[in-house]
Amino acid sequence: MLWRGRGESDNVEDRRGMSGGGIAVGGGIGGLIIGILYFLLGGNPSQAPELLPGQQPASQYSSQQNPEDDTLVDFVKVVLKDTEDVWGDILNSYRKPKLVLFTDGVQTACGGANSEVGPFYCPEDEKVYIDLSFFHELKSRFGAPGDFAMAYVVAHEVGHHIQKLLGTSDKVHSLEERSSQREGNKLSVMLELQADFYAGVWANHDEKMKHILEPGDIDEALNAASAVGDDRLQEETTGRVVPDAFTHGTSAQRMYWFKKGYETGDIRQGDTFSDPSLQ
Ligand SMILES: [Zn+2]
Repeated sequence: MLWRGRGESDNVEDRRGMSGGGIAVGGGIGGLIIGILYFLLGGNPSQAPELLPGQQPASQYSSQQNPEDDTLVDFVKVVLKDTEDVWGDILNSYRKPKLVLFTDGVQTACGGANSEVGPFYCPEDEKVYIDLSFFHELKSRFGAPGDFAMAYVVAHEVGHHIQKLLGTSDKVHSLEERSSQREGNKLSVMLELQADFYAGVWANHDEKMKHILEPGDIDEALNAASAVGDDRLQEETTGRVVPDAFTHGTSAQRMYWFKKGYETGDIRQGDTFSDPSLQ
């Protein structure tokens, strides 16, 4: 991605190195959960994927220790600015989300969370939360290197913000409350795949507006979408695949919806809720 020297967003809150404040150790999510959080990754955060031999835990990468992170902060600011410009163009009166960088644990209007859960969005405070250690993991643990893999992650979370603004996530949340676990999981998959679709729509418009893509960028995003597919993560963590427990969609589905968004650039094509293949 051609990002160096371009405009940066003012909406990044740097809370790295600050205490998460009352995060339960090892519990994945601590404290009272006030609202629902939307994660990039599926699965129960308390069952965080076990590390494969030779891999280091996320806490290995603390922001203070990693000079690469200064570059990552600049990168995130440019990507966030690009999402602001694109979505500001597509949606009338777009309300920009904040993006909070944190280390280890963080308090949000939706409750507390720690880094194990991966990047997420809290609709109550309209903020995207990312521990930069995830970007190192994306390369080392998930096998998804490249700057556009990281841009996809930011764009997916901003996709959840779009769902909040359009009222989709509220609707789905109230449906989920009246659904069985199995039906609720299906709704979650539709919501997550739509966030992937919106990430693709963003990539389409960003390229048209600013010509930011380099060869291989879209493949980096598709590889990242595949790497965080439920079937892939389940296989890696438990050795088996349980489709009823999917909350984010398979690798193939996540790639499909990102690609559809990228190829059409049309938000009207992203109705995952009426797509026959997802019923
Ligand atoms: Zn998500």
